[in-house]
Amino acid sequence: MKKTVRISEEERERNRRFLEEAKAHVARLREDLGRAAFAAVITFGCQMNARDSEKLSGVLKEIGYTLTDSEDQADFVIFNTCTVRENADDRLFGRVGRLRGIKQNKKHMKIAVCGCMTQELSAVERLTQSYGHVDLIFGTFNLHRFAELIVTMFESDRQVVDIWSEAGEVTEDLPVLRKHFFKSGVNIMYGCDNFCSFCIVPYVRGRERSRASADILAEVRSLAEDGVKEVMLLGQNVNSYGNGVEGELSFPELLAEVCRVDGIRRVRFMSSHPKDLSEELIAVMRDHENCARHLHLALQSGSDRMLRQMNRHYTKASFLHLVERIREEIPDMAITTDIIVGFPGETDEDVEETVDVIRKAAFDNAFTFIYSRRSGTKAAQMERIPEGMTKESYHALVQARFNRVLEAVQEQAKAQAARFLGQEAEVLVEGVNAKAPSLLTGRMSNNTLVHFPGAKEQIGQMLPVKLTECKGFYYLGQALWKS
Ligand code: SF4
Repeated sequence: MKKTVRISEEERERNRRFLEEAKAHVARLREDLGRAAFAAVITFGCQMNARDSEKLSGVLKEIGYTLTDSEDQADFVIFNTCTVRENADDRLFGRVGRLRGIKQNKKHMKIAVCGCMTQELSAVERLTQSYGHVDLIFGTFNLHRFAELIVTMFESDRQVVDIWSEAGEVTEDLPVLRKHFFKSGVNIMYGCDNFCSFCIVPYVRGRERSRASADILAEVRSLAEDGVKEVMLLGQNVNSYGNGVEGELSFPELLAEVCRVDGIRRVRFMSSHPKDLSEELIAVMRDHENCARHLHLALQSGSDRMLRQMNRHYTKASFLHLVERIREEIPDMAITTDIIVGFPGETDEDVEETVDVIRKAAFDNAFTFIYSRRSGTKAAQMERIPEGMTKESYHALVQARFNRVLEAVQEQAKAQAARFLGQEAEVLVEGVNAKAPSLLTGRMSNNTLVHFPGAKEQIGQMLPVKLTECKGFYYLGQALWKS
């Protein structure tokens, strides 16, 4: 039975109390230091993590920390981790390890590790056994208790470890510090029930829980009042939003409502599982101009045999049919995807099937990954290295297949990229171009970057821009407004 996430008044009250206590601790710290106390939130991984980090930052600001991007300057460093790939774990331990020396000369310094990785027992064991300088370890299910965890950390003389094995109640009114004033993520659901055989997410983010649509819409309205022009609805599989929850909106209904909110000029969503993408959703995207012309639809493999092994519940043919239907209804839709190469048992023939889908689906871009084994998943028990091959020769083979797929993706993306050349596009200005400060950088509805001359006062505005030159994966343009 699926659950909606409920807001508990008791939980809100508890949170308010701990925010006050945490404030008192930080005020004392500032007094002892005789200066501002700095905190840095270091984020790994996906959009969901980025949004969680905005909540962590919101709490830190509320209790009196000054936010910084520098781990070296910070008096409190929080690593919000990802565990989708093995190398993300390695990078994290490297970063945490480096702070050991800094902390030796900065006794008041605090370090916390949270996020998906800490939901894995092996990672927590590694942290507790070999990273004693970490003060606080917590998981994805108790992030809303961050203020309380900070208080516990300040009042304890040993490492605090608090990992919940499943989701409890979630408060809806945590302070949030948005990275951008003009765009924001909005969580619509948490967790995932799909159990794709390679994926750790259902184990570390729990089973699917949808937020109440009334709460989501209230949040979007208040973001719009606050000047936000673009929202991204976030969930591991947004298409199953509200499934099995009596009286709740479906995802297409919710999307249509969000698109109708006054002031919201662009609505994106992420992620969308191909098996659940309905005709109704295609119609809502088609009928709402402010629904972004970008759809990320993870293919993972073009081989039916691999798709079965991956537990994806669609076939090469049904995926291609879906792409065709989307392009029929919304010809200017950019479609991007994820592809895994080197899944256990994959052969050259399977890879060719993937390449065939890349060509036929005409993806605008694809994130291509080499399979990363995650212990605890079903795929982790599958044999990877074929009989008669050494580890080294197998890795070389997978790398060659990866290069083959990447080449097909790049060829296709290049062919797609120039299709808007000469047209006028609405661009949401995101910032000043880091390499050429006379240029602004913004995004089209289909997520393509555009660089064009302008002034920094225009950051956050939606502007008409003529696309004058295609540079492969981005455009150069000329703004069409009169200053
Ligand atoms: S849909 Fe599959 S890949 Fe996506 S989060 Fe759920 S289990 Fe993982």
